[in-house]
Amino acid sequence: MTHEFAGNLHVHTRYSDGNASHDEVALAGLQAGLDFVVTTDHNIWIEGIDGYRYLGDRRLLLLAGEEVHDRSLHPQRNHLLVYEARRELSTLAGDPQTLLDSVQQSGGLAFLAHPSDQAAPRFRQPALPWTEWNVSGYTGLELWNFMTEFKSRLSSIPQALYYSYRPTDVGRGPAPEVVTRWDQLLGAGKKTFAIGGADAHAIPVRVGPLKRTLFPYAFLFGAVNTHVLTEVPLTGHVEDDRRILMESIRVGRMFIGYDLPASTRGFRFTAGGDGRSAGMGEVIRSRFGVTLQAHLPQRADIRLLRNGNTVKTWQDAQAFVYTTPDPGIYRVEVLIYYKGRTRTWIVSNPIFVEPWRR
Ligand SMILES: [Zn+2]
Ligand SMILES: [Zn+2]
Repeated sequence: MTHEFAGNLHVHTRYSDGNASHDEVALAGLQAGLDFVVTTDHNIWIEGIDGYRYLGDRRLLLLAGEEVHDRSLHPQRNHLLVYEARRELSTLAGDPQTLLDSVQQSGGLAFLAHPSDQAAPRFRQPALPWTEWNVSGYTGLELWNFMTEFKSRLSSIPQALYYSYRPTDVGRGPAPEVVTRWDQLLGAGKKTFAIGGADAHAIPVRVGPLKRTLFPYAFLFGAVNTHVLTEVPLTGHVEDDRRILMESIRVGRMFIGYDLPASTRGFRFTAGGDGRSAGMGEVIRSRFGVTLQAHLPQRADIRLLRNGNTVKTWQDAQAFVYTTPDPGIYRVEVLIYYKGRTRTWIVSNPIFVEPWRR
């Protein structure tokens, strides 16, 4: 049986440039209905805060990761999200490959943060892209980063005001160039997996006479999240549950859900054939072709992609079944109409259909 846990993997607290304590972050996560939050403060790993937090009969697993980058770089770039290394790694930020090797040696996972981030010069926000594409040893990409998407809209003061007062209008989908990069990496045989993150800070902003909190945590935790699927339920024991969640993230058993238009809980993408089955992140081989299936929590527009190209679409559908003899890397994108436009709602991780061999 499959169990689903929704959470956020990119969150700042007061230990870096966020605007809340760990307990306040956890409370916001609980209020938004999340099951886990991993804090990723800049160049500092906080020991001793990992554990469950509770609200009524709900619980949330709070874990500390780290966002590591080389502070001496100008311009800034190459932010790396690190989970479960459980040691301070910021001293290795100067060499991304050494850093990635150390994450692996520590049993941790690494995702390239906001890989295509662009500058917003009107607001003195520098670009923070990933540029070191020759490195290896990372688990995947932060395909969709809510703050990067917001930054991409900050071309003028009126635009900034519009989007800071209409946060529900910000999210439209992952940056196309990052999706293209991901498909290229997958096509080159690199099994990289996608996550979505808030990059939550709850930044207090002042635009002219107006003072307000930009994107409170509780709002962001209801927006771009990562939903993790596990074969066993979480137990309530921190050491067991962190391992269960992170093992699924390591192998790509997860999808990106934009939970603002509607909850994405319940999305599934699976493959079967010849008595075998596979889920996201897994390989399947079959003599007689493979049947791909997806199910949505409600009707929306579905796009099935093979090796980065659309092979079939379904309009206003809640599920599809598609049988194919063709090997390839299959993934699903779901679009939903919300606040006057079509927006990305769900991005699956891939299923790898490989040629039959004994
Ligand atoms: Zn960053
Ligand atoms: Zn960040």
